[in-house]
Amino acid sequence: MGRVVLFAACLFSAVFCSTSEAWAWGAWGHEHINKGAVLALPSGMRTFFYNHIDYMVREATGPDLRIYTLGDKAEKPRHYINLEKYDYLNKPLPKTIEEAVSRYGNAHVQEAGTLPWHIQDMMGRLTAAFKKGRRSEILLLAADLGHYIGDAHMPLHTTVNHDGQITGQEGIHAFWECQLPEIFGSKYNLHVSEVHYVKDVAKATWTIIDSSYAQVTKLLLPEHKMKLDNPLDKQYIMGADGAPQKNFFGAPVHTYQYAHVYHELLGGMVERQMRAAIQFTADCWYTAWVNAGKPDLSAITSESLAEAVHPAMRADMKAWKNGKIRGCHTQKEFPDVRPAEK
Ligand SMILES: [Zn+2]
Repeated sequence: MGRVVLFAACLFSAVFCSTSEAWAWGAWGHEHINKGAVLALPSGMRTFFYNHIDYMVREATGPDLRIYTLGDKAEKPRHYINLEKYDYLNKPLPKTIEEAVSRYGNAHVQEAGTLPWHIQDMMGRLTAAFKKGRRSEILLLAADLGHYIGDAHMPLHTTVNHDGQITGQEGIHAFWECQLPEIFGSKYNLHVSEVHYVKDVAKATWTIIDSSYAQVTKLLLPEHKMKLDNPLDKQYIMGADGAPQKNFFGAPVHTYQYAHVYHELLGGMVERQMRAAIQFTADCWYTAWVNAGKPDLSAITSESLAEAVHPAMRADMKAWKNGKIRGCHTQKEFPDVRPAEK
């Protein structure tokens, strides 16, 4: 307990000298969250989205591409909220982005992040698109909303210590959200219950943010201790230059053994957060459709397409009942460090 308190104190004392780089679940996480959410929908909605499943899966990373590939500066703060910068522990947070801007000023809000308010905004837009019956808008907004909901379930998207940089754990962000699911995700059970109507999306979103933030120390502390107990070459795959090997995005590549021990110490956290993201994404899509007056989606999708994708959907649903999400064909971001099978 003492260590937890000390660790949290260390984190908060360094709040004001941190940066606010935005990262996100890797492609594996985002693509599986969006596909899982499609499979979790009631049948009419599922058929509509499944007709465009390749788009729903690929666009899961679209909001990140707008940051990294297009350099869209307005996009970045939508992916995180640095709660410490809103004096989270002492004051109730602003309910709307307008309230946040009037209390803190636009420059501060853009730097400190806008994720929960952006989810509310996207819900409004998705509901309007359902009302208008605009297929392309529905698909784009639903896929993007799944991305932001995924981000809200990644604890490090709620804190200034977003990459463990304050606690000497640089690289833990991509390690937790990308390398761990790439190694262990095929063993996860990601099945969720039937969709629920969400009466108050804003309230539910803040509950998710609270829960994510409550897990920040639980995510960081075990690896912080592991770092002290393991020399560099036990933590990382070492390059020929004697430094840790980095992946395409500059994140250090951890060894399988180190990843395995950390993943065990997390006690299922990555799997739980992914499952919760799938559930809330499906719930929000369903809620937007209900709030739009339950429009007939079969009128804006192709019957022949539905027939063509039917065998694949049937196979996906069979796997889904066992908690597996097949067929994402995600391009991995880390080299495979798993030991060769005997
Ligand atoms: Zn993101």
